[in-house]
Amino acid sequence: MPCLGYGAACFAKEFPDLLQVPMKDILHASRTRKIMTCRMKEYYAENEKCRICEKRLNCAGGCRVNAMTVHRDNNTGIDEDACFFRLGGYEVRVRETADAAIRRFSLPEHSIGIPARVLPAEG
Ligand code: SF4
Repeated sequence: MPCLGYGAACFAKEFPDLLQVPMKDILHASRTRKIMTCRMKEYYAENEKCRICEKRLNCAGGCRVNAMTVHRDNNTGIDEDACFFRLGGYEVRVRETADAAIRRFSLPEHSIGIPARVLPAEG
């Protein structure tokens, strides 16, 4: 599977079984490969909402497992939960809550488990 999150998806059994199918076959001709090799430019070409979104470099359309759970066979669908989180102000609220906890308990920055965000490259 492209990532561990797919293991809990309703369509998890549709991925090839590594114990039954050779890795080279999985990597060369499967749904797994199609998902793993999807480029951001393909994604943005299909989703104008994300293409023009102010959060696109942080979010990049959200989680693919979430998107495929809703859009089923479409790996390039929008993850609406990501929209809710990013555009609903929750990103800022989580950061503020973490910062308040860091101050209140005099914690080192990294102990809260919210690392500085690494921006994905477009391409
Ligand atoms: S917040 Fe929504 S519209 Fe913006 S990039 Fe993420 S999924 Fe796309």
